[in-house]
Amino acid sequence: MSTDKIQKTARIYALQNAIWFKGKANSKAVVGKVIAALQKEGFSPKEIIPIVNSVIVKVNKIPLNKQIAELEKLAPELLKKEKKERDFTLPKLLNAEKGKVVTRFPPEPNGYLHIGHAKAAIVDHEYARIYDGKFILRFDDTNPENAQIEFYEAQKEDLRWLKIEWDEEFNTSDHLEEHYRLAEQLIKQDDAYICVCSTEEIKHGRFHGKECNCCGNTCGDSMDLWKDMLNSSVEGSILRLRGDITCDNTAMRDPTLFRIIDKPHPLHGDKYRVWPTYDFAGAVEDSISGVTHPFRTKEYELRDECYFKLLDLLKLRKPHLIEFARLSIEGMPVSKRKIKPLIENGSVSGYDDIRLPTLRGLKKRGILPEAIKQFVLEQGISKVESSVTFSLVAAANRKIIDPIAKRYFFVKDPVKLIVENAPEKIKEINFHPINKTLGSRTVKTGKTFFVQNSDMKELKVGDIFRLKGLYNVKIKEKNKDVLTEYADENLIPGSAKIQWTTDKFVEMSVFIPHFIYIDEKYNADSLERADGFAEEAVLKLKTDEIVQFERFGFVRIENIDDKITGFFAHK
Ligand code: ATP
Ligand code: MG
Repeated sequence: MSTDKIQKTARIYALQNAIWFKGKANSKAVVGKVIAALQKEGFSPKEIIPIVNSVIVKVNKIPLNKQIAELEKLAPELLKKEKKERDFTLPKLLNAEKGKVVTRFPPEPNGYLHIGHAKAAIVDHEYARIYDGKFILRFDDTNPENAQIEFYEAQKEDLRWLKIEWDEEFNTSDHLEEHYRLAEQLIKQDDAYICVCSTEEIKHGRFHGKECNCCGNTCGDSMDLWKDMLNSSVEGSILRLRGDITCDNTAMRDPTLFRIIDKPHPLHGDKYRVWPTYDFAGAVEDSISGVTHPFRTKEYELRDECYFKLLDLLKLRKPHLIEFARLSIEGMPVSKRKIKPLIENGSVSGYDDIRLPTLRGLKKRGILPEAIKQFVLEQGISKVESSVTFSLVAAANRKIIDPIAKRYFFVKDPVKLIVENAPEKIKEINFHPINKTLGSRTVKTGKTFFVQNSDMKELKVGDIFRLKGLYNVKIKEKNKDVLTEYADENLIPGSAKIQWTTDKFVEMSVFIPHFIYIDEKYNADSLERADGFAEEAVLKLKTDEIVQFERFGFVRIENIDDKITGFFAHK
């Protein structure tokens, strides 16, 4: 009778899945559905899976039209394709033509990439691919105070890890001569002037909407002063756009286009001392490198006016600039500017600290690049600024690793548990309740176990609980150790199922990251170390493997050779 029920349910879902996928049902998908439908009625995956597999073989032999006819009779409502949870494809780009879209990701080589950069890079890359266009990697390295040689390569490694490939790569600093030429064009047109006022004076003038004396410099004056900037050791001069010093948009109050930075550049040494600002370099590079759809974060919105004004004055092509919200994650610094000091003052161990949202930190704790992409696409490109919780990244990751991560027992804060009259058992336990391809391990049990202290605290003398996968025990005494007696094998509905190790455990530490900031303040307890006993089978794991410690969470194995350690990804 019971197998009959499984047969019927399996047949329906196998037909449905086969119809969606050109007549061939997929075992994993169907098993999941049947288990979900029948588990409440007390059927176990163990009973379900073999039946489903045999049903699938039969269903897959039926031609598609017959499959449809049969499902129409059995469960016509299942013929409609389920609505997807959500469609994560990006919205259409305006003014976009297939084959002609060019996007770019323009990181400054001054640190490792974080998940905010991943958002920008994934969106740029994705659009270029959707439109069969071109994706450019551009190093915005026009501030020699920030750019450092090691980060060019490091950022490329980070992008490769995300599985982002670029069609073209260049450094903005390699185009400096062209930038100088365009600067001179602005000076000749009298659209820009050299200003030698102090930073304070300039700030004051901008704030009060007052022009400074330098504003009166003629083209000739400015050209001479410009040449001095380039070729002599004058200090403090800047080139400013003739904007509108009284403009409501303060970004238009004669913004700085070039300034002197007398620092050796990692690629060009002392060759240049005059460097363009973001306003100038960003607009010019997008235009001359053929970018059609540049994205930038919304904080630059006020600067759009300057971007287009510059391109107008230089008679350069204007791209379709698009803004999206900066990504923020609660309790995490999604910004190089905030990450850097944490590293410099030793608050974190380095760029790959597991508390950081750097791609290296995320990788180290077992977040997969595919999960980051999924998360980014779920977020979309809205302009609404909001802070999301890390649980969204975790959810995307869990979806991918849950079906493929081996499950182990890890007992945090262990206490010894003795079972009187314990039957000796040799048990083969699967590494995954559904995914049998992950194999199994064999565990030999006697009368000594270790269980989690916190689990024991919730139980009292006389309570019966189950050593998961084994049998029930009844608590007799609770002292330093817990004394129990064997109490039958039958499952007792509602009784606690508790993870354990035998006395053949291995000691292990798992590092657990918490919010690095709480109320804007550094959280000194942001890195927790959980010490415990893991089952012996853990010794067979290798560095980088991601496993699930049951009821504890997903963990990436860091070290297995001497001191066994792991990093906690998420629940
Ligand atoms: P940071 O504060 O992290 O240094 P940044 O904008 O100065 O940020 P860049 O290397 O200049 O860092 O950024 C490269 C690209 O990544 C830019 O297009 C920028 O808009 C984008 N980006 C940086 N941080 C985020 C974020 N948190 N969310 C979305 N995009 C971001
Ligand atoms: Mg920047």
